[in-house]
Amino acid sequence: MFYVKTKINEETTITTEITEENVFTKCPECGKEFVIDLYDVFADGGDLCSTVIYCSDCSAKSIKTKK
Ligand SMILES: [Zn+2]
Repeated sequence: MFYVKTKINEETTITTEITEENVFTKCPECGKEFVIDLYDVFADGGDLCSTVIYCSDCSAKSIKTKK
C-alpha cells in the first residue's frame, strides 16, 4: 500500500491511501481533471513528476492532427 501525507499544520497531517479511484491529473491541453490508473501509466515506465497525460478528447484530437 502507498499513501500520500499532507501536513496541514503542526498538529494535523492528512494521510490518504492511494487507490485506483483517487489519483487525478489534469489534461495539459484543456485543463480537464480526470482519474488516472497509476498502474496503467507506469506499466511502460515513466516517472511521477514529468509524465503528462492528455484527456481522451485531446488524445483523440492529437491523433487526428497527426494524420
Ligand atoms: Zn484535454
